[in-house]
Amino acid sequence: MSAIVTRFAPSPTGLLHIGHVFSALEGWRLARDNGGWFLLRIEDIDRARCRDAFEHAILEDLAWLGIDWDGEVRRQSDHLGAYASVLAELRARRLVYPCFCTRRQIAREVEKAQAAPHGPLGLIYPGTCRTLAAAEAEARLEAGDHHAWRLDVTRAMDETGPLAWRTLDGSTIPVDTGTAGDVVLARKDIPTSYHLAVTHDDHVQGVTVVTRGCDLAPATHVHCLIRRLMGWKEPLHHHHRLLLGEDGRRHAKRDRSVTVRSLREAGLTSEDVLAMAQS
Ligand code: GLU
Repeated sequence: MSAIVTRFAPSPTGLLHIGHVFSALEGWRLARDNGGWFLLRIEDIDRARCRDAFEHAILEDLAWLGIDWDGEVRRQSDHLGAYASVLAELRARRLVYPCFCTRRQIAREVEKAQAAPHGPLGLIYPGTCRTLAAAEAEARLEAGDHHAWRLDVTRAMDETGPLAWRTLDGSTIPVDTGTAGDVVLARKDIPTSYHLAVTHDDHVQGVTVVTRGCDLAPATHVHCLIRRLMGWKEPLHHHHRLLLGEDGRRHAKRDRSVTVRSLREAGLTSEDVLAMAQS
């Protein structure tokens, strides 16, 4: 068997909190206990929300905790050209289509269709622009109209046939893209989205076990589909539980009290913080 490669992939939109530490430890331990590799990736494609200061703080906090990583840190904003190439290929194969709808239009369409508006990944797109005439879509693209590129999930599944992904503990989960709909794979000004960048990078970095919170498990169905379309190897998945605060709610970036930074400033040692993340 080849070596285990795991990764921690935070978005630098805030300080590292105790829930992140728990998540990082899941991948770190899996790699370290098995003589594998633990990679660190900064998912900073959303430049409006990401801050260099948060990226520096994440690296510093992980080092302070003794959570070390192998090789160079990969920063997604350095690889926009690679994502653009994947998008171009999917476009050439007519597996993505441009969508010109605003959020408000989508909400109105969903209401009209009396469909379930939200899946676990957010609003389910009702497919309005999927049937737009090619000439109209081209004209609107040429005119520079605001748009996103959506995966044509039905067409894609027709191409791949039924799919499944596997968990680390040996379960096989059939792919069900129904709760996601035609997800956004890129935007007019950013040639990628979370779904495209994360699958591309797990592929090029040779990740063998994707470790992340169970809140992201619904996205794995879409990721499995993208991987098969692109001929990328399917990793195993470990969707770990989310660490909950004393109030029973999951930790979030807005909870200042549980950031590594604030715990450190309050005088806790790295051992104390690691113990908290494992309690
Ligand atoms: N960047 C994502 C986040 O911070 C995690 C992505 C992943 O692990 O797949 O929520």
